[in-house]
Amino acid sequence: MATQILKTPIEYLKGVGPQKAEILKKELAIFSYADLLLHYPFRYIDRTRFYKIKELNGELPAVQVIARLVSKEILGEKRSRRLVAQVKDDTGVLELVWFQGINWVERHMKVGTAYTIFGKPSVFNSRLSISHPEMELYSPTDKKQGNPTLQPVYSSTEKLKQYSLDSKGLQRIQGALLDIILKEIQETIPPYIIQSHKLVSRKEALQQIHFPNDPNTLKSAINRLKFEELFFIQLKLLKNKLLRTQKYKGLVFEAVGEKFNSFYSEKLPFDLTNAQKRVIKEIRSDTQRPVQMNRLLQGDVGSGKTVVALMSMLLAIDNGYQACIMAPTEILARQHYHSITHLLDYDFVSVAILTGSTSKKERKEIHTNLESGLLKILIGTHALLEDKVQFHNLGLVVIDEQHRFGVEQRARLWKKNSIPPHVLVMTATPIPRTLAMTLYGDLDVSVINELPAGRKPLKTIHLYENQRLRMYGFMREEIAKGRQVYVVYPLIKESEKLDLLYLEAGIQNIADEFPLPQYRISIVHGKLSPKDKEFEMQRFVKGETQIMVATTVIEVGVNVPNATVMVIENAERFGLSQLHQLRGRVGRGAEQSFCILMSGNKLSREGKIRLETMVRTADGFEISEIDLQLRGPGNIEGTQQSGVLDLKLADLAQDQDLLQQARNTVIKIFEEDPELIREENALLRNYFEEKRDGITWNKIS
Ligand code: ADP
Ligand code: MG
Repeated sequence: MATQILKTPIEYLKGVGPQKAEILKKELAIFSYADLLLHYPFRYIDRTRFYKIKELNGELPAVQVIARLVSKEILGEKRSRRLVAQVKDDTGVLELVWFQGINWVERHMKVGTAYTIFGKPSVFNSRLSISHPEMELYSPTDKKQGNPTLQPVYSSTEKLKQYSLDSKGLQRIQGALLDIILKEIQETIPPYIIQSHKLVSRKEALQQIHFPNDPNTLKSAINRLKFEELFFIQLKLLKNKLLRTQKYKGLVFEAVGEKFNSFYSEKLPFDLTNAQKRVIKEIRSDTQRPVQMNRLLQGDVGSGKTVVALMSMLLAIDNGYQACIMAPTEILARQHYHSITHLLDYDFVSVAILTGSTSKKERKEIHTNLESGLLKILIGTHALLEDKVQFHNLGLVVIDEQHRFGVEQRARLWKKNSIPPHVLVMTATPIPRTLAMTLYGDLDVSVINELPAGRKPLKTIHLYENQRLRMYGFMREEIAKGRQVYVVYPLIKESEKLDLLYLEAGIQNIADEFPLPQYRISIVHGKLSPKDKEFEMQRFVKGETQIMVATTVIEVGVNVPNATVMVIENAERFGLSQLHQLRGRVGRGAEQSFCILMSGNKLSREGKIRLETMVRTADGFEISEIDLQLRGPGNIEGTQQSGVLDLKLADLAQDQDLLQQARNTVIKIFEEDPELIREENALLRNYFEEKRDGITWNKIS
């Protein structure tokens, strides 16, 4: 096979050899020809044009200038010894400086001679200079002749540089490699797609990304390679989805029955929002087909996901099945239990809760009733995953706050049935569209993008440290109205000790400002035992305390409608999505709610953008997009385990359109040719077949 040559060990490449190969492997994980080929330049130096001195400024990258040497002089002594030269063109004067190789340079440069000078301009004491420029004798043909191109810059390391594999050295072996393999490079994307998307060939793209002719060909090359990356990720994801729907039969919920209908008409205390109705319809139509549902439900905090989950469960029950909800913490499981039993009368449907702290006796009863089918809805934590928990016939699994459960755990729940139950995964952490498409590309996604009517929009205010007294005053006013207040501190693992110090100081401040007996304070932090945590939480939930001082442990899901103020201390230290999550703890009742972001007086650029964004918008999806732009996908929860970070070129924040194109293309392919048997899709069929043979060449895609 022609691609065989790409697997050649790197030591066989001309100009490499065993010693350099060893270093390439260690430093850049380049083992084979293919690995080197995929070591793309991370930027390019523009050698296509010559600058005039008056055009230069400190912001430019490395540029080239043609100028005549007018003076040279060695200044300073010992460590500050340097060679300073002045060059001039018809627009101005530029200074050149060398700190090393001074004598050599001095000997070789002649005053009065014209040079082509290449380097990065900088401004120091308002004087323009280039240090350690590359210099070549200028000859009038330079401008036309030679090879004016975008020069690739490769990442290298100190170690590699010792073996003359700096950027230039890497460029050299890259050239040697392309010389021998370019003709072997095969297309991976079917020609009709290449055509319809106006992509350049794989061969051209790989050649141009290393040695671009001009900015336009480079752009087309990068575009092609990005598309390829995204295309094959989508191909894998959607193929998995296809396989799953073929492999696993799904339970059919044929009827909308008595429980669903009577709940809807008699018990539901409010009108569903249009978004809720739409999602319930989507779930209804999924579960009518004999295909297992795997649906991700995204919706901001307070958008009413619970009732959607509940109605879906009633659908399962109406069709003779059981359902369960799994939450990541005991507190959240309890909250679900309370709100669901509150919505249902206790004899309407049997509901139980199972967590780590369920007593042995209760546990036994639950096990029995679950196996007999008497118990219809089970709510709980990880405890649901234990082997002892056996359902009579589990029809629907709802997983709340998905990112805390891995795929494996989801699979364990499926295994509780011969035909896997339908799965609804709910998350209040909106994920940018592009991330959802890549992280959950094999799931169907529903979105609740509408809050129930009549909610007062929450007001968010940003105060600096020197406005702290205003904040205390505001807290007093709200407490005087009978409201409750959260005060949250960051707790970030790396600096746990310091954070605890802040927390302790903060608690002391609050205790001084809000003394007993008028004020009572709950304190919850990660060092407390779950029991103590629960106790303190409950005091706040019951209204026995007016202030809850906490670290971010209260982040997810807790619901105290009477709490109208969320104060976030050191807000600049939180990520956007975390701030958004925290803010979601308030604004759950009828009263006007507030979020106060406290920050130091000095903010980083990013910190400023984060806090401004929070003040400006409450839309979780918009916030998640900005978060992605600011931090990149690597820092967004859930991406670490996914393939997203293996992307070499594509950027989920920048390349949304391309991703959408790639996904649409793949969807269309599978619609028209699910088995990939058509001749025009032969390349794609090969892709999966080769993968089975364990050929790593496909890593490239
Ligand atoms: P989340 O999506 O954060 O889980 P919940 O399901 O906890 O939100 O709902 C938040 C609150 O809004 C609950 O008190 C719930 O009863 C209420 N709620 C849900 N849907 C509606 C609706 N359509 N109209 C009015 N209130 C609703
Ligand atoms: Mg919820």
